[in-house]
Amino acid sequence: MHTTPPARGSPDLATLRPELESWEGRGYKAYRALEGRVYAGPGFDLVFDHVQGDPFADPTRLRALYPSVAADLPSYATRTPDARRASADFLHRRMSASLSDASASVGSGHGGAFATPRPVQQVLGRSAARVGEDGAVELRFRVGLPARGRRILGAAAGALLCDGLPQAMGSVLPLSETGRAALRRHVHTVEDAVALRARLEAGGLVAFVADGSILPRRSGADDAPMERERAVPFRSPDSLRVTLPAPHAGEVAGMGVPRGVTLIVGGGYHGKSTLLRALERGVYDHAPYDGRERVVSIPGATKVRAEDRRAVVGTDISNFIRGLPSGADTLAFSTEDASGSTSQAAAIAEAIETGCACLLIDEDTSATNFMIRDARMRRLVEDADEPVIPFIDRARQLLDEEGTSSVLVVGGSGDYFDVADTVIAMRRYVPDDVGEAARRIASEAPEPRPDPPAWRPVAPHAIDGARLAPMVGGRLRAPTRDRLVWAGRELDLGAIEQILEAAQTKTIGLGLRRLARDAADARGLLMEAVERLMRDIARGGLDVLQEFPTGDLAEFRPEELVAALHRIRP
Ligand code: ADP
Ligand code: MG
Repeated sequence: MHTTPPARGSPDLATLRPELESWEGRGYKAYRALEGRVYAGPGFDLVFDHVQGDPFADPTRLRALYPSVAADLPSYATRTPDARRASADFLHRRMSASLSDASASVGSGHGGAFATPRPVQQVLGRSAARVGEDGAVELRFRVGLPARGRRILGAAAGALLCDGLPQAMGSVLPLSETGRAALRRHVHTVEDAVALRARLEAGGLVAFVADGSILPRRSGADDAPMERERAVPFRSPDSLRVTLPAPHAGEVAGMGVPRGVTLIVGGGYHGKSTLLRALERGVYDHAPYDGRERVVSIPGATKVRAEDRRAVVGTDISNFIRGLPSGADTLAFSTEDASGSTSQAAAIAEAIETGCACLLIDEDTSATNFMIRDARMRRLVEDADEPVIPFIDRARQLLDEEGTSSVLVVGGSGDYFDVADTVIAMRRYVPDDVGEAARRIASEAPEPRPDPPAWRPVAPHAIDGARLAPMVGGRLRAPTRDRLVWAGRELDLGAIEQILEAAQTKTIGLGLRRLARDAADARGLLMEAVERLMRDIARGGLDVLQEFPTGDLAEFRPEELVAALHRIRP
């Protein structure tokens, strides 16, 4: 991360007020004089990184730098990378809350408003907040410098920057007694989740859901936990219960989802998708009181779904689709307008290319003809006339040949009993292990299925400059979690369900742009270039993706970056 050493003997922030007041009524450009200046505020140095050119432009970018003595964080909060990520997330939440309280609308445009990306339920590394190994803290945010029309409101600017700002930052750091207790809970919660996740592989598990977890959310539009009075807490079936150690919570009991093929079955509206969605989110750590703090999945677990109309470029979908009536090549399949089944086949092939060890699939967002093909349909339509080899025929091979597990929500097809290792039935939101019953039913009423053709390793994509060229040029923005826009182009990421929020979308866009820039000299496989990029970010922080330090970026997984890349239209 970009850091300017605190300037020795910077002028006191209070000295800025008379200067701002003297600018009352002057043209907006006069604010430009602030760029690059550093002031000493209470406990922190305030750096003006970039000053907006007019009241409607992107607000002014500021940084508050706290030396470790001023931040005064306890040592457990800075000891490890996970502790620092958790502490930084904690401070970002506090900053977001207090800046939003301090925000007002003054004059034109964004005047008077402070801004930082809105926190989500997950704990994410962000460029807006960083805790250094030595306990120093850097917080970044934006502010709209006030004006009426294009005339500076100098007194208002003085009040905003010299009263409002220090006051708002004062409720971020230093921490009170209760603030410290909350920080400890935040760090411990993250450390426990990390420890639980680290136990999965050795335990032969792909996911874990602790007893007592609250999986349902307040609404489809609100990721906060459902109210305690309404939500049925999670309780593992005895036969799937495992106990995993966590450094702070001790022994945690809950449901282990074993490697292999796992079905989630049950009646409509009984909580199947809610469980799967919790597993999707389990690749991230959660803030205290979320309800999913102890729901963890293996790091590469990837949700895939059908997404008709998406673009596909050079993806090997031949394990699932071959002999299309159009004669299209399915070893390197390209289309500007995929169907339900081809889009789902592409999503799975692309996930396997990233090394995905667990696929998460929900019937609600799947193409039926991709998931299943029953005996009667086989009699009516010969295999030779059906390009699709359904997932049910590939699930075992995926496990045996690629080591890829799958967790599938299937309420409608008992044929899947034949290929499942574990069957979990949701009944009134309570899971039950019905594996025995499913095996009995499958053996009493067998549904013979012809053996599928041999599984072929998925052909990987090469790094391809022409493919990435559309990413270059123009200002890149993510107006919502679902959309990247730049230079009159647009990328729809709505179907990449594990993207959390717009800052992540924007950061993914910058990652793609960086790949595009490097693609000209790069040779070899796409995934090698992606791994290089992820290593650079791990080493240099999110700032390696931008020319100037901003607080707008959030950590992302390579899985989502690659998924986005494959949707770029030529
Ligand atoms: P399904 O996929 O089985 O049709 P969903 O997972 O979509 O069902 O859940 C249906 C509804 O039940 C949703 O509104 C969801 O919020 C709610 N729900 C899910 N799990 C719980 C729970 N543990 N307690 C209370 N309500 C729940
Ligand atoms: Mg559902």
